[in-house]
Amino acid sequence: MSDPSDLVFVALGGAGEIGMNMYLYGHGQGAKRRWIMVDCGVGFGDMETSPGIELVMADPSFIAEQSDKLVGIFATHAHEDHIGGLGRLWPQLKAPIHARPFTGLHIRRKLEEAGVDPRCLNIVDVGETIEAGPFKVRFQPVTHSIPEAASLVIDTPSGRIVHTGDFKVDDDPQIGAPFDLEAFRAIGSKGVQAMVCDSTNVFLPGHGGSEAEVIRPLTDLIRSAKGAVAATTFASNVARLKSIATAANDAGRAIVLVGRAMERMVSAAVETGLLRDFPKVISDYEAKDVPAEHVLYLVTGSQGEGRAALARIASGSHPTVRLGEGDMVIFSSKTIPGNEPGVVKLWNQLSERGVHVVDESSPELTGRIHVSGHARKEDLRALYESLKPRIAVPMHGEHRHLVEHSAFAASLQVPAIPAPNGTVVAIGGDRPVIVDQVPTGRLYLDGDTMIGAMDGVVRSRLKMARQGHVVAALVVDEGGELLADPEIRVIGGPSQSERWPMPLEAMIYEAVDEAVEGLPKRRRADKDIEEVASRAVRAVCARRWGKRPVVTVIVTRLEDE
Ligand SMILES: [Zn+2]
Ligand SMILES: [Zn+2]
Repeated sequence: MSDPSDLVFVALGGAGEIGMNMYLYGHGQGAKRRWIMVDCGVGFGDMETSPGIELVMADPSFIAEQSDKLVGIFATHAHEDHIGGLGRLWPQLKAPIHARPFTGLHIRRKLEEAGVDPRCLNIVDVGETIEAGPFKVRFQPVTHSIPEAASLVIDTPSGRIVHTGDFKVDDDPQIGAPFDLEAFRAIGSKGVQAMVCDSTNVFLPGHGGSEAEVIRPLTDLIRSAKGAVAATTFASNVARLKSIATAANDAGRAIVLVGRAMERMVSAAVETGLLRDFPKVISDYEAKDVPAEHVLYLVTGSQGEGRAALARIASGSHPTVRLGEGDMVIFSSKTIPGNEPGVVKLWNQLSERGVHVVDESSPELTGRIHVSGHARKEDLRALYESLKPRIAVPMHGEHRHLVEHSAFAASLQVPAIPAPNGTVVAIGGDRPVIVDQVPTGRLYLDGDTMIGAMDGVVRSRLKMARQGHVVAALVVDEGGELLADPEIRVIGGPSQSERWPMPLEAMIYEAVDEAVEGLPKRRRADKDIEEVASRAVRAVCARRWGKRPVVTVIVTRLEDE
């Protein structure tokens, strides 16, 4: 009998958080074990935990250190949380990447931007089987909120795995084929050992809405508008772009794509043949000559991203698009948790300009101008019943989602286990068992530079942001005597207060001067001076300012002639 741990699953990212998905399947034991990776995505930094960080990725060290055992990378769909890390991380992974055409187009651009030769990318047709070591992998189309999303059917000598990827069950997705439960039943009929499944909407009862359901309400809304209309959604939701554009066209409005991602996505969809009957588009310059009530702008920035088109329109700094009194902005989107402050700020800025803003929170529009791309409970149930997996492992969710999903699977008599990032789960037996733990972590893209989350860079940045920064520069002679007045700078802190007898810098100066002068002659090494000066700075700041700033003391020792 084969060992259940012949087949293992490990999440390096995406299990215990929503974002930066990176999953591994291993087959075999010890040095003979071979791995495939499914998805390699990113998350985004936020002001609370990672200010200034552009992108967050799962740390792939565990697999990068044995990249000769990694026999393939499979990308389920083109969302950033699934492919965003491929360009930056591929040089550590060096395995062939397999993806469907639309996904591949986006991966290719990421590879090229990162200077990686895109010949590592293999475009896969539906129905084709990719052999990678002991794995035979097939892409099974699913409906989601982006074209060409797929589940992976992974056959191994220890049984069949279905990795659902992100999906919902949509009978009328507008782009691509309807969800094919029959196909999943056929996949299940051969026996599914393990199903690794999307958990995003596991807390929501019932079935998710179809993409088709938003068309009528959007059309009514656009028809009701008197001035210009701007609509925003994820640019990658091509079906939604088409629905909005069709609604606008029906309402006699010309369509203008605003934002690089919007133009790129529409051209990618046209190029791959997904978007055939997209209404005619005019440029933002041409739109200047069209009356406002005959224009609809499709704009990027539904998540309040500071540099996206909508933020620039809201702040009045967009070069061509101006919105004001009587115009309307439609959010055909859901605000991702964490992005609320940015979206609220946008909304207020637009409101101050007299723009009428609508989103799905308006009672008459709830669930009507946006539908999620993820399966709710009844859709999950349908998939479990079609595939009849022996065991399940939830993924793509925060810890609470994984726990809820495990309980849900158990209620369907499918043994499941929450397996947060780093847990190695044996999935070859009659129940999932945690057999090991591997190191995980996060990498940050800071500007153009990759840094480790534990490198201390972000910790210092956060501390400076919250506490301010004081610099003291001291010049001493060989004997450690001060040769000049200490230079003090307070950065990100107050200089004056009516409660203080003198500026903060001056008080720090006096304390540092006194502390250094008070040092015995024989204890004036650089580090002694640094230490006593730092302590003096901290004491003054604590007593006078009531803060514990980051303190930097620089000692320069001038040698005697
Ligand atoms: Zn996702
Ligand atoms: Zn997705």
